[in-house]
Amino acid sequence: MSHRPTAFLGLGAIGAPMAARLAGVGGLVVWNRTRARAEQFAKAHGARLAATPRDAAAAADVVITCLPTSREVEAILDGPDGLLAGLTRGALLLDCTSGDPATSRRIAARLAERGIAFADAPVSGGTNGAEAGTLTIMVGADDETFARSRPLLEHMGSRVEHVGPVGAGHALKAVNNALLAVNILAVGEGLAGLVKAGVPARTALAVLNVSSGRSFVSETLVPERVLTGAWPRTFRLALLDKDVRIACDLLREVGVDGPLLDRSGELLSEARATLGESADYLEAIRLIESRAGVELRG
Ligand code: NDP
Repeated sequence: MSHRPTAFLGLGAIGAPMAARLAGVGGLVVWNRTRARAEQFAKAHGARLAATPRDAAAAADVVITCLPTSREVEAILDGPDGLLAGLTRGALLLDCTSGDPATSRRIAARLAERGIAFADAPVSGGTNGAEAGTLTIMVGADDETFARSRPLLEHMGSRVEHVGPVGAGHALKAVNNALLAVNILAVGEGLAGLVKAGVPARTALAVLNVSSGRSFVSETLVPERVLTGAWPRTFRLALLDKDVRIACDLLREVGVDGPLLDRSGELLSEARATLGESADYLEAIRLIESRAGVELRG
């Protein structure tokens, strides 16, 4: 077992708190497209700053990526400053992006030709879970790569599950988030209807949450973020939209009809087009509110 540092690329809303969990563990090298973010992180957490993805990869045995989609992960592999120019035989690329299975299989095949291991390891639990190190991490990899990845992932997650071969982690994460999206839309629509029918949202939730219609959305997200009017920005709606699309593509690929997920994807894409790329995922409920002419806050 070597003691070379771990490299972390992508210090976004979830990447930064995940990387922070690794800062105390051993050496950490960070890279971020917007350099100022990486500088700030390096200063705050005592990490080393890499000038390029290549330099980050050259310094480490394990490289972790956490970018918006698999497209960006595939794109930073190539070029003179890309990951492939720095990764050495025997290294491991752990992709914590909520990506897509097909691209990950393609990336894994390219890396395997060079003797580099790959695992998709997307996470669930939000930015709070990342800060606390209590994420659920869904790993797609062969047995050996999973065994090698696990100790590192356990610094970021309390539940690290091997769910299948490369791509399986991304598939499961996409379906998880599609279920989250369906719940958000359904709770938003149902509550808007109830408020218009004269039942205050807070009363409705108090009852729903001790009844069979309850969910994480009704028990936690809506009370903490919508009823309070806090609307924190923790996870971009654009990213949830991407996740639902991945889930819909997966169902199509395996020949399963998914009208409910397809419709949820359409609604989220509409919300994304209306609210923009930096809107938070729960703001999909804002659109339901404004169309219904009600506010759930209160
Ligand atoms: P953000 O949009 O907050 O951050 C994205 C990160 O990717 C930033 O570091 C950004 O750099 C970098 N980036 C964007 N485009 C490129 C590019 N072309 N080349 C290199 N780097 C790039 O996203 P999150 O951190 O929220 O999400 C990251 C992944 O984690 C996504 O797949 C998301 O679906 C998933 N996820 C997010 C959760 C959350 O609660 N936020 C929860 C679970 C999963 P820059 O600073 O330059 O913009």
